[in-house]
Order: sequence, then structure tokens, then C-alpha cells
Amino acid sequence: MVKFRVLIVRRVMCILYCWEEAFLDFLDRHNTKLQAVLHPLSMASLVSVIGFLLIYDILYALPGLMDSQGLCYKLNCMWSIFMVYSIFSNLWVCFWTDTSVQALPVHRLRPPQEEAHLWHYCATCEIMVPPRAWHCRLCRVCSLKRDHHCTFTANCIGHFNQRYFLVFLFYGTLGSFQSLVYNFMFVWKSGAFIVADPFLIMSFGQPSRDPSMGWKVLISMVLKVNLVAAMAAGGMFFSQMLMVYRNSTCFLMSDRTYDLGAMNNFRQVLGRRGFWTLLSAHLNSPLPHDGTEWQMTKHTDV
Ligand SMILES: [Zn+2]
Ligand SMILES: [Zn+2]
Repeated sequence: MVKFRVLIVRRVMCILYCWEEAFLDFLDRHNTKLQAVLHPLSMASLVSVIGFLLIYDILYALPGLMDSQGLCYKLNCMWSIFMVYSIFSNLWVCFWTDTSVQALPVHRLRPPQEEAHLWHYCATCEIMVPPRAWHCRLCRVCSLKRDHHCTFTANCIGHFNQRYFLVFLFYGTLGSFQSLVYNFMFVWKSGAFIVADPFLIMSFGQPSRDPSMGWKVLISMVLKVNLVAAMAAGGMFFSQMLMVYRNSTCFLMSDRTYDLGAMNNFRQVLGRRGFWTLLSAHLNSPLPHDGTEWQMTKHTDV
């Protein structure tokens, strides 16, 4: 029985490995075409959803909940615009920040003698790369402390741009949940909650004498789009926070090799100014090092 289980596990691993190889081979062969479709599509969907929710909240949801001439409405609008500005400014700086090994000064491309055993060779770039740097088949470079390739920012998230990605996700999550609250209240107040069921399709074709049924269906659909956006943003933000908290990466989420304690771990990503970076993507916050030398926790130190 045990031998049978081992055999099954090996077969499954073999199939997964073949799929992974086929996928990586596909990435290599269609790199340019894939990027030409994937990145603009991701960015267009992001801009559409955020832009639509902002305009919808300002023009419909908020005026339906409060006096559109009042201070509360104006403050809510200003705060929403600040969040959208923070989302896109962080996304923009994240896109332009080069976190590749190749961007390092030439003298940092050689490992110090005492750290040479921690570096490894990238056969594609044909250079030695520091610990935590890995090759990206889409960017075609090795990225420092590579976390993952992001289709929204069209580059890898790594040592030098993770700060912007984290703040982008923070405001994305905050904004989408705030919008969800507004939309929930608006749908409730409009008496449309009855059609905001998960089986919206069942609401169509139902005979109704209510002349506002079309509008109710529409605002309940917006609520659902908002819910999906909030769940997606929240999920990504939670996983990023977990990794920054542990000083790990997407590929080894539970790895605690570089865990220096929560505050130190956040400082390694956000830089010297820490959580003040939430104020602006343009606030200078120098990182503690250049991403080539990584301090390990004491029990894993070699
Ligand atoms: Zn490489
Ligand atoms: Zn990449």
C-alpha cells in the first residue's frame, strides 16, 4: 500500500514537472507576444475598475447617501481621489524602478570573498547573482530578492520596488473596501438589496411592475463587481503583508531564514522612513542595503 502511494506521488510529481516545463517553454517561445497582451490587458482592467468605481461613488453612491453640497461629501471625495492618486503614483514608480541585478554598480556584481558561497550562477544572464536574486523569464533579467512578476506593473517585484507595490496594494484594498461600504449602503437604501443576490441571472426575465427594477439590477451588479475587486485586492495585500512580516517571498512564503523581527523586516522593504511612505510614492526612504547582502536569523546563519 505504501509503495503504491509512493508510486502515485511520483507519477503526479512527474506530470506536474512536465506541465511546468511545458509552461516555461511556452513562456520562452512566446515571451514578447505574451507581454504585449498580458500587461496592457491587466493595466486596462485595473484602470477601468478603479476609475469606474471612483466616478460611480462620486456621482451616484455618495450623493445617494449624503448631501452633495455638504462638507462630509467633499471630504469623502477628496479622500477617495487621494487614494486613487496613491494607487497610480505607487504603480507608476514601481514600474520605473529597476530592481534587476544588472542595475547594480559594476563593483557590486562580484561577491565579497566571505559571501561567495551564498551567490549562484545564472546560466541565462551568465553572471553570478546574490542570494535571493532569481531569473525572470518575462523580464529576461535576474531580480534582487525576486518576489514575483507583476502583470500590473509589467516588471518583477523585488528589493527596490516592493515598497511601492505594498503601498499600491494597501490603498487598493482600503479604497475597494471603502467603496464596498458606500455601495452596500446605497444598494440597501435604494431597496435594491433584494436583487443583489449571488444568482443575479435569476433576476432577469422575472416579470416586475417596478419601473426602477433596471436601475436596481444595475447598482446591485456594481456591488458585486466591487465585492470581487475588494476580495482580490484584500487577498493580494494580505499575502504581501505576511511575506514582508516574515521577510520571505512568494516562492517560499513560510521561509524564516531572513526573519529579523517584524519592525526590521518592514524597514527592509519600506526603508528608513517606514510607514511615512504611505503619504507619497515620491517620499525618499533609503533602504538599509543594496539587496546583495542578506542577514540571516541566528539559528540559520552559516
Ligand atoms: Zn538571470
Ligand atoms: Zn519579471
